[in-house]
Amino acid sequence: MSETTDVPTGAGTGITDTTGSGRGARLDVRELTTRYGPVVALDRVSLRARPGEITAVLGANGAGKTTLLRTVSGLVRPRSGGVLLGERELVGAAAEEIARAGVAHVPEGRGVITELGVEENLRLGELLGTTRRGATDRRARLDTVYDLFPALAERRRMPANSLSGGERQMLVIGRALLSEPEVLLLDEPSLGLAPRVVAQIFGIIRDLVDREGLTVLLVEQNARSALSIADTGFVLNLGRVVASDDAATLAADEDLRHAYLGF
Ligand code: ATP
Repeated sequence: MSETTDVPTGAGTGITDTTGSGRGARLDVRELTTRYGPVVALDRVSLRARPGEITAVLGANGAGKTTLLRTVSGLVRPRSGGVLLGERELVGAAAEEIARAGVAHVPEGRGVITELGVEENLRLGELLGTTRRGATDRRARLDTVYDLFPALAERRRMPANSLSGGERQMLVIGRALLSEPEVLLLDEPSLGLAPRVVAQIFGIIRDLVDREGLTVLLVEQNARSALSIADTGFVLNLGRVVASDDAATLAADEDLRHAYLGF
């Protein structure tokens, strides 16, 4: 465990541009401890997310799920511990540097710029991606997102504020994909959506992972749905990992479900 509090943002992390192969990289969270003042939000959390897999992070309100994603993506500085993207240490790097290294964070809340059109919002995702790709590659990438989410293709010229909740969720995921990430961090994509829409979006995420070999860390309170598409899962409670296993085993554990998963 290394104290990181005094490490200047972005210094000495050795992160280089890993430019968009579109393939996932392994993410190793090691003994991560994050505090907000006296509140210990993460207490020596360790987990691994593998390429080509969906790793679910489950737990009740306040378990530390959002803090985990915010710490991985550099928005919050941990007190101690590490986050390895492949062989590279991310702790200490600036959020923008971590994004450029291949980690795309889709926060809770589906933030879009409502004054802009759907395609303009999508293209914002390119800003954090690689700069080495040409216009043709970018067009192809946009088309890939439209293939994944035909509802966005139909609405590409419409203002973002005309979208439904599900379409907005597709938009923020699509925007993240335009940065050509190796790791996709999804915070509660199902929140407030109808079960049918959740099933549709989760099905698309599963296809995407199978097709592109991305690494996905999926934070969800909707444990039942998350485990139905995940490969493995970690259950957090009060900042600690209380269970981890393959998704089917977690979903079959009645005691765990009743105690922590709410189904
Ligand atoms: P939820 O689903 O409600 O967002 P969560 O599992 O994502 O829950 P976190 O949001 O990571 O949990 O919160 C973990 C703990 O840290 C909670 O006790 C919460 O009150 C606290 N916390 C989160 N953000 C802050 C903050 N900015 N300042 C102080 N405490 C915070």
